[in-house]
Parts: sequence; C-alpha cells; structure tokens
Amino acid sequence: MLRHEFHLPSGRDGQPLIYFCGNSLGLQPRAAADRLQQELDSWRERGVEGWWGGPEGGWLGYHRRLQEGLARIVGTRPEEVVAANALTVNLHLLMVSFFRPAGKRRKIIMERGAFPSDQHAVQAQLRYHGLDPASDLIEVGPRPGETTIATEDIIDAIERAGDELALVLWTGVQYYTGQFFDLQRIADAGRRVGATIGFDLAHAAGNVPLALHDWECDFAVWCNYKYLNGGPGAPGGLFVHERYAERPDLPRFAGWWGHRESDRFLMKPAFHPAAGAAGWQVSTAPVLGLAPLLASLPLFDRAGGMSAVRARSLELTGRLYADLQEMKGMQLLTGGDPAQRGAQVSVYVPGHRPDLEKQLSELGLICDYRQDNLAGSEGGVLRLAPAPLYNTLEEVARIPDLLEQALHPIR
Ligand SMILES: *Cc1c(COP(=O)(O)O)cnc(C)c1O
Repeated sequence: MLRHEFHLPSGRDGQPLIYFCGNSLGLQPRAAADRLQQELDSWRERGVEGWWGGPEGGWLGYHRRLQEGLARIVGTRPEEVVAANALTVNLHLLMVSFFRPAGKRRKIIMERGAFPSDQHAVQAQLRYHGLDPASDLIEVGPRPGETTIATEDIIDAIERAGDELALVLWTGVQYYTGQFFDLQRIADAGRRVGATIGFDLAHAAGNVPLALHDWECDFAVWCNYKYLNGGPGAPGGLFVHERYAERPDLPRFAGWWGHRESDRFLMKPAFHPAAGAAGWQVSTAPVLGLAPLLASLPLFDRAGGMSAVRARSLELTGRLYADLQEMKGMQLLTGGDPAQRGAQVSVYVPGHRPDLEKQLSELGLICDYRQDNLAGSEGGVLRLAPAPLYNTLEEVARIPDLLEQALHPIR
C-alpha cells in the first residue's frame, strides 16, 4: 500500500526479505531518519533552548504533535491519548488509577495465556493491594479442544464475577493466536456489572479499527513499535476516557511531566495534573524516542485511515489463511472468521524443529516461531503477520512454497 515509504530488510542476495514480523517490530519508515535528524540538529544548535524553540516549535509541546494522529488510529479525541512511558509501565500507572479494589469488589478478569508482561503486571498489582492472584485473578481461556476464546464465555465469566469484579483487563488482538476480540461487547458487559474496563492494544493499534471513545472503556495501553512502526522500544501509547479529563482526585503515580504545562516550571510541590491523558505522563518527554512516530503516524492517514488499512489487511490475511488451510499437517490457531482476527495467522507445526525460524529466514521469510506442545506432542507455533502498509499479495502467495521447502526439504 505504502511499501515504498519503508526500508525493507534484504537478504544476502540483496533482494528484499518477506517481512511478516510487523506484529513484533514494525519496519522503519523512510522519513524516520529525517525526523530524528531534525531533533539531533536542534539539540546540537540550541542545546537546552531546543525545549522552547526550533523549526516546528520546541520539544515542550512534543507530545501534542502526536495526539491527533494517534487519536485517529485508536478512535478517540486527541486529548484522550498520549505517547509516553512504555506499555507495561503504562499498564501499572493506569491500574494505579483504575484498579481500586474495595470490599468484595477486588477481582481482575483477563485472558488465559496473556502476554507474560501483562501477567506479571497484573499479579504485581494484586499483590501490591495485598490480594492473592490465585483467588482474585480470573482467567478465561478457550474451551477444551479449541484455540480461540468464545465471546459468550468472556461475557459469562464477567457476569458470574458480578459485583466481585473490579477490573476487566482485556486484550484487543491476542498476541499468540491473533484473535481479535469484540471489545465493545466486553466493555458493555464489564460496565453492566460495575467494573472498570482497560484494554491492552499492543497487537491491535494500527492493525484493526478501534473506537475507544465510543466503547467507553476507561483506559487502554499499547506499544508504538509493533504495527505503528515507531522503532525499537518506542514510547508507549495510553488512553484515558474523556470523563476522567479533569479528575485531580484520581490516585496516580505522578511526575512533573504530567503536571499542567501552564505552571509546571514554577517548580511548586503541589501536583496539578494536565487535563486528559497527558496527565499520566511522568518523566521528561523522550523526544528522540518519539521522533520516528512523527514519520510513521501520517502514513496511516495517507493510506486512507484505519478502515482502508483494515480492508487491505483483510485481503492479505484472508489469502494467507486460505493458503495455509490447504496445507497438510498444520493446525491453524487463528479462527476462520475474518472479523475475529487481525493481520496475523498463527499455525501449529508438529515435530521437533528448533531451527525452523532460521531456515525460513535463509529462504527469505522473516517470521516468528516458538516451540510449544499444544497438542500434547512436540511442535511449535509459527506466527505470520502480513502488515497492510508494506506487505503485498505477491509475498503472501509465496508463503506455502517457502513453508514446504523448509518443512519438507528435497534431499
Ligand atoms: C508487545 C507486548 C508487550 C510489551 O510490553 P513493553 O512494556 O512494551 O515491553 C506487552 N504486552 C503485550 C500484550 C504485548 O503484545
């Protein structure tokens, strides 16, 4: 779609590799280096005065330059989002504000097999409040023999937890299976029982259309280095619903960058949060980390916005899914309903193949492979993620052949 706007890694023969790992680290936008260089220049030429001056204004308002672009991608008002900190850090910061166990309302519900960092954060938060993950964490998984989680089962679990449920922390697109959840129904169910709602959109932001404001979830977090192509370790994104825009009473682990800008530099001890999501910034804006996002976010607008990106993604992933279904001996973990998957197909490959990822990379395909013993037998899961902004149908069409070559090499 905008393939020419990205640097494509190439193999030993100088030909571009098929890069199906944008779910892990998005590719570098060609304009990123200029954006970074601009800030390096400003630093070189102005030193500390770079905070107040420069060709496009100083760094003080840097986060504001990203808010509109991010808002269009995750479906919010600009003031409801900010790029700051990092995903897991934001998860902690927002749980401090929105996980407020009291009396019997103290449980958290999340998916079974969540990304480890989320599990660590949730367990740590429960313990921090003197609670026990063994009894206060409810995990909902697939039914026996299934690989994806039925929405009804999530809703049932939320309703069963009822007034014991403090927080629904759900994922947008499951990192392992690629399942895209019905976030609106999950948010509605959580609200009906009086829980707060938080979403982890690490694999959803820039992948699938989102409408966080209208879904009325309380908060969300995501990373900007996966489908958003912000570069390794790019600062994370966070959303706090508008209804909390002016709530200085909310508990938060505050820092000076979250103080309102008008009098931040008076250096007074009292904390007055900036309105909206910006009030959850903590430390000085990481300008060099944010700069590539100024190159990356406009590409989503140029592609026609998230609905156009999604249409392209459905085409690529639909073709990949159909092709993989045809292949013998593999089990697809990702579901067959296009509405319930993002840009990723996860496939279980039986057999002991510790070198599969390397073999595929030598054949020109970059993707992710992990040993797993899903079916009780030795095997592993291959995750293939065609990114709609830079992958093509021609690349998708080559996958079955490359997999065949790696799995059944002609000796
Ligand atoms: C990628 C990912 C993370 C990574 O968190 P960082 O704090 O950015 O290292 C966390 N959670 C999920 C669900 C992810 O997919």
